[in-house]
Amino acid sequence: MSLSEFDLIERFFVRPRLANPLNDLGIGDDCALLRVPTGYQLAVTTDTMVENVHFFPQVNPRFLGHKLLAVNLSDLASMGAQPIAVTLALTLPEVNAAWLSEFAAGFLQLAQQYQVDLIGGDTTQGPLTLTVQALGIVPQGLAMRRSGAKCGDLIYVTGQLGDAGLGLKIIQGYGCTNPQSPLAQFHIPQPQVTAGLRLRDIASACVDISDGLAADLGHILTKSAVGATVNVDTLPLSGEVKTYIAETGDWQMPLTAGDDYQLCFTVSPERASRLTVPCWKIGVIEAEIGLKINYLGKTQVLQSAGYEHFS
Ligand code: ADP
Ligand code: MG
Repeated sequence: MSLSEFDLIERFFVRPRLANPLNDLGIGDDCALLRVPTGYQLAVTTDTMVENVHFFPQVNPRFLGHKLLAVNLSDLASMGAQPIAVTLALTLPEVNAAWLSEFAAGFLQLAQQYQVDLIGGDTTQGPLTLTVQALGIVPQGLAMRRSGAKCGDLIYVTGQLGDAGLGLKIIQGYGCTNPQSPLAQFHIPQPQVTAGLRLRDIASACVDISDGLAADLGHILTKSAVGATVNVDTLPLSGEVKTYIAETGDWQMPLTAGDDYQLCFTVSPERASRLTVPCWKIGVIEAEIGLKINYLGKTQVLQSAGYEHFS
């Protein structure tokens, strides 16, 4: 524990500025300074990960650094915002240089991939808690909101569901003959930033799937004051998830497990031909309030909607 707070920031988190021309001043002063171009809105989001709530104590810190940033970039993606910068608030029980080095590597590699500068943060001592604030820009009025879905719109997802949920089950002891891909989805999710940017002129509503499809699509339905039917038979599922369902009968897992970080969005039928991102149609928006799940030709009831804190 010989590193001071400032040595720690300097050693692990201060890096040369990336190419982003909107960031005028980064780490080192009381505030960072950045510009928002005329005609754009600033999109702001924050997400916290707490040890024993969001991650296991033994988890590889490189994965943790990646995932902490990924979940925040995923929120920007769901609104169709271009990420520009992030801040990082770290609460650490101790200064463990090996841990910090790996954590920073996972974090900064993803930051580099999306050209987002780490422009500031805070470092304190206490129970391990990691918080990122992500900043993005979006042309005025083009952000995809949860409230825009209309009756008759088609519902899509940008990728396979349930792999991260299966990864968690594997960590908890479920035996899977091919565990690499589900584990990778759980530990190092890829935020759908490019898809979000390409959807923002087309989609009527969008959400990122962090708490499970049923719960997150549920947010679109509530905010848009509509209902929906989802056809389970049309969900994109990996071979591993299909095998899991065949072995356990747990067909609801891809609807209720969290951590997928795919986008779920709605599009009017007239605009659907303009879609240029890989996506799968899974259902339709309806006037009648509530989420109906069709499985094997019958309407089914879900056991649980997804993870919620304080419940
Ligand atoms: P203040 O006391 O004004 O809050 P600090 O002394 O906490 O500022 O931080 C010094 C500088 O280092 C600031 O620019 C702050 O944004 C940055 N910083 C602190 N912690 C981190 C971190 N974990 N990652 C990135 N930048 C950080
Ligand atoms: Mg401070």
